[in-house]
Amino acid sequence: MKNSLLSQRDLAVLWHPCTQMHDHETQPLIPIKSGHGVWLEDFEGNHYLDAISSWWVNLFGHANPIINTALKAQLDNLEHVIFAGFTHEAAIELAEKLVAITPAGLSRCFYADNGSAAVEVALKMSFHFWQNRGQSRKTKFITLENSYHGETLGALAVGDVALYKKTYAPLLMDVITAPSPDCYFRDEGESWADYSTRQFAHIERILQENANEVCAVIVEPLVQCAGGMRMYDAIYLKLLRATCDKYNVHLIADEIAVGFGRTGTLFACEQADISPDFLCLSKGLTGGYLPLSAVLTTDEVYAAFYDDYSKMTAFLHSHSYTGNALACRAALATLGIFETQNVLGNNQVLAATMKTLSQRFLNHPNVAEVRQTGMIVAIELVKNKHTREPYPWQERRGLQVYRYALSKGLLLRPLGNVIYFIPPYVITPEELALMFDVAWQAITA
Ligand code: PMP
Repeated sequence: MKNSLLSQRDLAVLWHPCTQMHDHETQPLIPIKSGHGVWLEDFEGNHYLDAISSWWVNLFGHANPIINTALKAQLDNLEHVIFAGFTHEAAIELAEKLVAITPAGLSRCFYADNGSAAVEVALKMSFHFWQNRGQSRKTKFITLENSYHGETLGALAVGDVALYKKTYAPLLMDVITAPSPDCYFRDEGESWADYSTRQFAHIERILQENANEVCAVIVEPLVQCAGGMRMYDAIYLKLLRATCDKYNVHLIADEIAVGFGRTGTLFACEQADISPDFLCLSKGLTGGYLPLSAVLTTDEVYAAFYDDYSKMTAFLHSHSYTGNALACRAALATLGIFETQNVLGNNQVLAATMKTLSQRFLNHPNVAEVRQTGMIVAIELVKNKHTREPYPWQERRGLQVYRYALSKGLLLRPLGNVIYFIPPYVITPEELALMFDVAWQAITA
């Protein structure tokens, strides 16, 4: 009863993200009373296993005691302070840690308050760097087909998921879109590395022809998440780094979704042994507690802005909540868990279990591919396994899977016809088994 009362009040005044609100005439909203570990509980005592880490943010479970304790202590001292002219310990310590753990060469940290804002910061910084350096012709960005970098207009412009972008096209800056290294499209028998290398030829040519006008290439390292958890080989990033260097173009790595252990290494860029010029982080940064993002960049970039005020080279970008003390504290507690527990080692074991448990889907008549990178597993549903003909989007197969899974206590949020799993790292092998089992029933039903 409480569920439906809250739901009614909500639907009278609220407008939810990424939702056709009309759907809620038939699909009930679920008010959540509490969360513990991987489980969410509603007001009627139903439990839901959060298999998608609440939009990929939650790393160590809901109501994590370590993060809770750290936040409570911070709360009694300082909740927030203007971050221009003032600073505080949590922000300093977090920046020191991020500089220490991110790929070599990233020595400066700029905070913002969500993923899209971090992407805006990286785009503006890159553009502004070239302006400060007198290279005023550099005004364009290169992005990959099927990429996603957020919803604000700059971030949307460098994304390529039509569902989110098409309507707003007249408002968006022009970008150069390179074919994707997405290995779903590799030939039969072709390795991920071979396909990603083959696809690299396209962006190499684009860079060669346009470098004089290009500020940066922006990529989601290893996994194009919102684009359907499409994956590619690290070789692509390695080649891209070298070619960006060759043509004097920045590389922006958007690790907002894949950072903090999700792909098997702390940062996905490590698997290609590269350092980007800008690294965007958010989501898991605070363990899923509070909105915060960070853009890490190099001494070289920082130096191009550092001058006498009268030269007008400063980066005059701000958000009111820049460097929020509570968010920084949650992030420090999250990084503390990485420092004190063998998170990446445990994730290897969990990822191996996910691999084993997902194998049965390979034989399903409507599954074209089961792919995995670290703690991300995705299942591509199709109408025809052999031709890979997709289900018509109007059938909303993913939504049907979502509804079924929910009725069995599993929170999935398919992307179109892609069912994926991005669980918190505190999930147990038994819970993983339950997750794949219910997903199997949902797909089969
Ligand atoms: N970049 C990537 C790779 C993302 O996955 C997302 C969020 N899904 C964003 C940027 C945007 O982050 P936010 O939703 O916090 O604005």
